[in-house]
Amino acid sequence: MTVQTGARLLEGAPIAGEIRSRVATDVAEFAATHGRPPALAVVVCGRSAPSMVYLERILKACASVGIDSRFVDVPGDDAATLGAGLAAAVRELSADPAVSGIIVQMPLPAGINLRVVVDEIDPLKDIDGIHPLNAGLLRLGYEGFVPATAHAALEMLERSGATIPGSEAVVIGRSPVVGMPVAFMLAKASATVTVCHSRTRDLAAHTRRADIVVAAAGRPGLVTGDMLKPGAVVIDVGINVLDGKLVGDVDFESARAVASAITPVPGGVGPLTNALLLAHLVRAAQRQAAERPAAAARKPLARSTPTEPADPAERQGAADPDGAP
Ligand code: NAP
Repeated sequence: MTVQTGARLLEGAPIAGEIRSRVATDVAEFAATHGRPPALAVVVCGRSAPSMVYLERILKACASVGIDSRFVDVPGDDAATLGAGLAAAVRELSADPAVSGIIVQMPLPAGINLRVVVDEIDPLKDIDGIHPLNAGLLRLGYEGFVPATAHAALEMLERSGATIPGSEAVVIGRSPVVGMPVAFMLAKASATVTVCHSRTRDLAAHTRRADIVVAAAGRPGLVTGDMLKPGAVVIDVGINVLDGKLVGDVDFESARAVASAITPVPGGVGPLTNALLLAHLVRAAQRQAAERPAAAARKPLARSTPTEPADPAERQGAADPDGAP
């Protein structure tokens, strides 16, 4: 059997490197103007090893471009204590003029609603677009902070050479952090968008007519080559561990034989997500400086001692400045 393996690989690292170098220039300019670099606060509430590795990588990426960072570990053994501590931490960081942007470890521990964060985070520091104001701006087509992963998926598509206006796009997943923001962004870019989810009756019937497929379901092997239109552009946002290996939602080999371009997992959307998060942070710092000049002129970020991960094995993944799968 002849297998066509012609799909172009859409790799995140080169684009991420380009974005990081632009961010480094912007950071240096900001520091020269304001006497301090932009600063990121990373809030962790109940540690889970995979997301600790992810957050450590973001801190490493910050350091690589000169962004200051603070690691806040919310103490507590039960949901009530953790929830109250999380609310207090996000409130304090939102009020601190030395902090430019805040991200919170996801998923939150069982029993803690995202609302705890949403109610406290300053929309101008919400660099991952979870505040309703930013979600609303996206929905209305205005500029705000969009979730970095959704932004990465769109950036990848735009750089893939795909013609988005007039295309049929299928987004698999309707979460507020990935699927729906991607769908809104694609609609804004004039694609005809279908959003599929776990209750979609015949997923393949939708994907087979799509010029663009964005998979964000968290289900390994959900999309196979026979579900794709020849020449489709496939953006795999999924991150799953299968048999000890990191895989996406798309069965890479069969999809690659049919698609014209495809993102690998790891190495596709993930690295781009982290670079864009840094770009969002710089934009947040610039917006705060423009809209709250008195606050921007205040003292630099107080150096709190970053909390070291308890497990040394968690530190091992922190070497890659791309910071995500
Ligand atoms: P999520 O909140 O669990 O949402 C998953 C979505 O997929 C839901 O809308 C769900 O439908 C849908 N879905 C589940 N099974 C399906 C099926 N069999 N057919 C069609 N749709 C199905 O997950 P998320 O936070 O959006 O994340 C999605 C994936 O992206 C995960 O693998 C996550 O790890 C990954 N991710 C990657 C990055 C990155 O930087 N690359 C960042 C964030 C997340 P219902 O709404 O009906 O339940």
